[in-house]
Amino acid sequence: MQLYNSLTRTKDEFVTHEPGKVSMYTCGPTVYHYAHIGNLRSYIMEDVLEKYLRYTGYDVKRVMNITDVGHLSSDADTGEDKMLKGARREHKTVMEIAKFYTDAFFEDCKKLNIKTPDVVEPATSCIDEFIKVISSLIEKGYAYEAGGNIYFDTSKLKQYYVFNNFEEEDLQDGVREGVEKDDNKRNKADFVLWFTKSKFEDQELKWESPWGLGYPGWHIECSCISMKHLGEYLDLHCGGIDNAFPHHTNEIAQSEAYVGHAWCKHWFHVLHLNTNDGKMSKSKGEFLTVSLLEEKGYDPLVYRYFCLLSHYRKSLVFSYENLDNAKAAYEKLISRISSLEKDGEADEEAFEKLKASFCEAMDNDLNTSLAITAVHNVLKADVNDSTKLALIADFDRVLSLDLINHAEKKKNENPASDEDPELVAKINDAIAKRAAAKKEKNYAEADRIRDELKAMGIALEDTPQGVKWKKI
Ligand code: AMP
Ligand code: ZN
Repeated sequence: MQLYNSLTRTKDEFVTHEPGKVSMYTCGPTVYHYAHIGNLRSYIMEDVLEKYLRYTGYDVKRVMNITDVGHLSSDADTGEDKMLKGARREHKTVMEIAKFYTDAFFEDCKKLNIKTPDVVEPATSCIDEFIKVISSLIEKGYAYEAGGNIYFDTSKLKQYYVFNNFEEEDLQDGVREGVEKDDNKRNKADFVLWFTKSKFEDQELKWESPWGLGYPGWHIECSCISMKHLGEYLDLHCGGIDNAFPHHTNEIAQSEAYVGHAWCKHWFHVLHLNTNDGKMSKSKGEFLTVSLLEEKGYDPLVYRYFCLLSHYRKSLVFSYENLDNAKAAYEKLISRISSLEKDGEADEEAFEKLKASFCEAMDNDLNTSLAITAVHNVLKADVNDSTKLALIADFDRVLSLDLINHAEKKKNENPASDEDPELVAKINDAIAKRAAAKKEKNYAEADRIRDELKAMGIALEDTPQGVKWKKI
């Protein structure tokens, strides 16, 4: 598989430290609020990557942290802990907030068919681990104490800015916005490993440490949680593009200083989902969550489909219009699949040939939109329905769009099973076209389609569950 690697800035052949095994780490959510659908774009694309690696036979162990302490409002170690802000907003304790939003995150993931990683570890349960690694970094001369905090000394590294070729506009504002000068730092790029002093003295959670009562910095969490479960050699590290700098850059600095050799082979970064007027935000404008999409009548899997239609290395613009287009396309796909009927044995040779084009797309830097084209090509292929159904079920182990289940459900909505499949496909196609026309407020076209069906002896009924049809 060729996969773009942010470290080498090229598409590299994906290779692992141990043949057949993948150690994979994902930066988890900061659980101070609901995840927005931008955050979830990253988790959807990482989920597809994990599932594809498993699909091709790798034994994957995936670990994710839950950031419940230390992630400050600005990524540059300034500002207030986001968790504390969340707790104050809702008049709850930090731990109550963490529990509530961790659960909410996994509920969203479930709705989007995002698999829970093999290991999920909250930062607050690894304090001893952080203290052990920070102590070792001090011993090795990579960290120093100043003004009560422990800092990582970036001047001790041969190369600190490992990802500095990123598109500036794709890097989050955090490090530029509201950066405050910290006079304790020996070098501008140094970062905090452990805080005992901060302008924000009301930090709720603090722990005893050799340097006094305090709390960990955000970056050390991921290095330690990753190494705790996946050892000194990591194959694949994922996150949204805003995490590349400073978060991942700092993870590499401290992990490699600690283990004394190269740490992670492959860095996978997902570009941002933006709105038409810019960055996705939890505070400004409409707070776009999975629940909001559901309230507006969208199946969360329509959002997953929307994400898969674009390449993960391109920024994606969210608008309801774009989502509606994805919805129409998803429904049309389901409708086509619902017209398939098992008709004997699957053709193995044809199966392998069509599967190869799906794999070719995925092997080319996880090209999910071409993988979806491969699904459409299966539907058009000159093979029996059993082969088509087997292929679609097989691809859906990776895409996780519930294609077969949804198609079955659709089939049960209409008395289609004893109908000519071609007629059913034609009707479903007409229904999808009518929906698209209605969405564009082209009611004349919508009526024309309804009349055309009527002339064929088919009546449509608009119900809260969608459009149903029956023979007149
Ligand atoms: P956070 O909860 O802020 O720690 O972020 C969780 C994940 O979402 C991280 O991998 C971020 O890099 C990613 N992320 C943040 N904003 C966006 C966005 N607009 N689009 C895609 N991914 C994002
Ligand atoms: Zn992280």
